[in-house]
Amino acid sequence: MQLKTLTINGFKSFADKTLIEFVPGLTGIVGPNGSGKSNITEAIRWALGEQSAKSLRGERMGDVIFAGTADRAPLNRAEVILTFDNTDGYLPKQPQTVTVTRRLYRDGETDFLLNGQNVRLRDIVELFMDSGLGKESFAFISQGRVEAIFNSKPEERRGIIEEVAGVYKYKQQKQRAEAELGATADNLDRVSDIVTELT
Ligand code: ATP
Repeated sequence: MQLKTLTINGFKSFADKTLIEFVPGLTGIVGPNGSGKSNITEAIRWALGEQSAKSLRGERMGDVIFAGTADRAPLNRAEVILTFDNTDGYLPKQPQTVTVTRRLYRDGETDFLLNGQNVRLRDIVELFMDSGLGKESFAFISQGRVEAIFNSKPEERRGIIEEVAGVYKYKQQKQRAEAELGATADNLDRVSDIVTELT
């Protein structure tokens, strides 16, 4: 699976619709300080479901929408579209070209689309969780991250290895199932209390 294109429209410093094509091989992005290089990687993480405004260097999620400049009015919507070449079937049950779209409007309304169909944030996150492209994946190594991994606690490092090994998704599903089982056991206890009271 390969990231083929990135379209940024109204996200951070990208007021105009900008298309970046990733051809096979290495792509380098160069530019002066503050020209928007990091905003490009943030756009990819955002489209893949990043939920932390702080990790996108903002206070609120609305900060990702183009905020205007001295000669340009702010915009009301940020949109990022990613297309992946999935001809190797890396993403199961998905077409040969997979398109992921995320939009955010100033009023807080948000859209996630997978291949043009509205989906939940969770669907996007789960699809990419173990693909090596999830929002926490090692496809993104930001400044200071290598040092942070070296200095992390053993259990945090274990979490990193689990993500790389592909078991993280199953751990999350197990946790969700255990929480549901716990809630069901509580409900059963309540029912049994009521039955005892009535008999
Ligand atoms: P460096 O080389 O210093 O790391 P960079 O090329 O990675 O810089 P970025 O950090 O990606 O640059 O871009 C920072 C620029 O993006 C700043 O000029 C900032 O004002 C602009 N910017 C960030 N958020 C917004 C926004 N919501 N609206 C408009 N501009 C924004």
